[in-house]
Amino acid sequence: MSKPTLGIIGGGQLGSLLCSAAKKLKIKTIIFSDDQNAPAQNFSDGFIYGKYDDPNKINEFINQVNIITYEFENIPFKTLDEIDKKKSVLPKPSINKIIQHRLAEKDFINNLKIRTTRYIYVDKRSQIENAKDLLPGLLKTTTLGYDGKGQFFLNNIESVKDLDINFSKGYILEKLVELKKEISIIITRFDEKKYEIYEPIENLHEDQILKHSRIPADISNKILEQSKLWSIRLAEELKFIGTMCVEFFIDKNDNLYVNEIAPRVHNSGHLTINAFNISQFENHIRAVCKLEQIPIKKISNAKMINLIGDQISAYRKKNYASNEFFFDYFKKEIKQKRKMGHLTTLI
Ligand code: ADP
Ligand code: MG
Repeated sequence: MSKPTLGIIGGGQLGSLLCSAAKKLKIKTIIFSDDQNAPAQNFSDGFIYGKYDDPNKINEFINQVNIITYEFENIPFKTLDEIDKKKSVLPKPSINKIIQHRLAEKDFINNLKIRTTRYIYVDKRSQIENAKDLLPGLLKTTTLGYDGKGQFFLNNIESVKDLDINFSKGYILEKLVELKKEISIIITRFDEKKYEIYEPIENLHEDQILKHSRIPADISNKILEQSKLWSIRLAEELKFIGTMCVEFFIDKNDNLYVNEIAPRVHNSGHLTINAFNISQFENHIRAVCKLEQIPIKKISNAKMINLIGDQISAYRKKNYASNEFFFDYFKKEIKQKRKMGHLTTLI
């Protein structure tokens, strides 16, 4: 059977890294993005620029590919669903619908008796004033948030008065967890009870943006086992096909909470490119294109640093040792808080 052509919606660094992994497997990729400068076009075989609700552009895209996947979760559900009627979209749009809405996502996780932070839905200021036990807390938009965007820290009831936001958009108020540590698990599910799961990755955020990741995570065996079991359960319940990520909090008393699910490859898994025989990107391609599932094996422990904003300039000039792997995302413009590249070091 000839190899399929894979369509990828979204053209950021995750798209680029998916394209590189596909190339290794001799699978052609077409990127569809609403950003004319999308960096992934430097790595793909084809590129279509268009709005995510432009039926002509969407059709042009569909006609060039056999299977469709996506590299970010904030694509309108309607778009994904319409595409899915003509060409198979994996992971299924119904999964994305749950996960792109923070309330639906948290309810889904809680209904499985998997612990999350305490939260309530909020669309009026007075609801926060009546939920003092959730303060200090974080108010998060239900949709379209990433890298801490659309989040407001509320220290006490006084800070609620100063909030200048449109409540009717819908938010969740979430109790602040006293964090000891954050970890994530990357899992690629191929079929029922068929998956490859990477060991937990320890993550450090700065200003709510991921800055450092490393394996092995310095965690107890109990947390290791629990986080894996919960990730497998979530992937199975969602009937997920492809790579997904579960982000966890660990509090000062060693309680584990699921923070959120990313229905896609994830920044914390960049180190899998160099530290494993098969990366999260390659596994995603293998799962959605129905290629062989190969057991993952760790080659080395590793750490990764995200290069954000201006920081990239110095790294572009450096020389690297053989255990260091520098990735430049070739974004057109350097912007503050923008992820510009990363460096993985095998340790
Ligand atoms: P995003 O969708 O922007 O990734 P997250 O909900 O994952 O949003 O929040 C980003 C980061 O902010 C988390 O990784 C964590 O460091 C911090 N954070 C978010 N919610 C909480 C919370 N309830 N308690 C403590 N820290 C939090
Ligand atoms: Mg997050």
